[in-house]
Amino acid sequence: MMSKTIPVKKNDYIDVEFEDLTHDGAGVAKVDGYPIFVQGGLPGEKATIKVTKVNKGYGFGRLMEILARSTFRVDCPAEEAHKYGGCQLQHISYEGQLKYKENQVKQVLTRIGKLEDLVVHPILGMDNPWHYRNKAQVPVGEKDGQLIAGFFKPRSHEIVDTNESLLHLHEINEAVQAVKEIASDLGIQPYNEEKHKGVLRHIMARYGRQTGELMVVVVTRTNELPNKNQLVEKIIAKLPKVKSIVHNINSKKTNVIMGDQTNVLWGSEVIYDYIGDIKFAISARSFYQVNPEQTRVLYDKALEYAELTGEESVIDAYCGIGTISLFLAQKAKKVFGVEIVPEAIEDAKRNAELNSINNAEFAVGEAEKVIPAWYEEGNSADVLVVDPPRKGCDEALLQTIIDMKPKKVVYVSCNPATLARDLRILEDGGYKTVEVQPVDMFPQTTHCEAVAKIVLK
Ligand code: SAH
Repeated sequence: MMSKTIPVKKNDYIDVEFEDLTHDGAGVAKVDGYPIFVQGGLPGEKATIKVTKVNKGYGFGRLMEILARSTFRVDCPAEEAHKYGGCQLQHISYEGQLKYKENQVKQVLTRIGKLEDLVVHPILGMDNPWHYRNKAQVPVGEKDGQLIAGFFKPRSHEIVDTNESLLHLHEINEAVQAVKEIASDLGIQPYNEEKHKGVLRHIMARYGRQTGELMVVVVTRTNELPNKNQLVEKIIAKLPKVKSIVHNINSKKTNVIMGDQTNVLWGSEVIYDYIGDIKFAISARSFYQVNPEQTRVLYDKALEYAELTGEESVIDAYCGIGTISLFLAQKAKKVFGVEIVPEAIEDAKRNAELNSINNAEFAVGEAEKVIPAWYEEGNSADVLVVDPPRKGCDEALLQTIIDMKPKKVVYVSCNPATLARDLRILEDGGYKTVEVQPVDMFPQTTHCEAVAKIVLK
């Protein structure tokens, strides 16, 4: 094979035109066919870049000057947040972000999934794509003798002091800032990660948007929380929406935020929130969707695609705390949820009880083991719903679906690339993907969710 020469060198300054955006939001420019990835570059834009890294098949560059601006470019509302807060798409107008995500879904379905004649609907976005997250976990540290809290710089453990995140609900920003000030006033020592000394490691806040209930969690290295009573009094005085104040102890040297021991300092052990009509009890350590407004949009679609009449038995694989299962149970004869994390299944059972739903059953285990075992025992399902993590469904599960032949499969995905791969496998096994609905659950970030309706041919 002829080896191609690389047309650029490290530290070269070159003028390029961006053609595309990668799945992680970087601009792609090509020099004689050699792709260079540049964070911040937008398709259609001309710019001067500096080449920072040269690999065999592709390189990286830094954006130096924009020579012709994309109509989708907007000024970043917060430079800091752009760099540190995970807002990778903040320089793109929301209209542009939606177009980008919708295109990503379409592209992978064609390129990886090789799927034809299916309908990809226009993406469903938010009316207000800012301040949507209902939860924050903010690391605490020290700078020049002051307690600070905010973001970690990327690939580092240096904390940037921040009071306002553009992604968090205002109630959450307010809560974090209040607890930070109170802790500082009371002289509670911030944690020093390097020396593994000090007290306060993280401030966490969670807010039930439908109920107006706020939970505050303080995570400390020490069993002792100095000035505990004053801390509680001041939090109650400053944050009238607070319903639960929790102390979590994490004495280990670790990146994991919460430790095993949790004490309620004041109020309730849980706060409540609703997705649709379903009520969820949320404790300090349980998983809960961070954007319930859009979660509802996604799950309403999943329910619509399942086309339940009340007679069906449904399997919900990768069910978490039973969010989708409980949605489906209202319209199905019976729902079986499967999930690998035992605590999540406990929450799922509790949530079923809380809503007086008694046609949902839950099992702990790997979906790719539990569901094949059920099938071997002669069980079947009319509809199968999957909502796997980013790596997609295990092949053993897909094979069981193909053997079991449920009339319908609804695939909820947080990674279009693995969705496309799995839809291809189902297509080859006798299924047809009819329609796909992308949903924007995480505006300003590159993440994109989609739900697909798949029927037996
Ligand atoms: N449907 C849920 C959670 C989806 S996230 C909700 O909407 O809340 C994906 C879930 O799959 C996580 O809860 C994760 O713990 C679980 N999981 C990961 N691998 C699994 C496996 N092999 N078998 C079953 N569940 C798994």
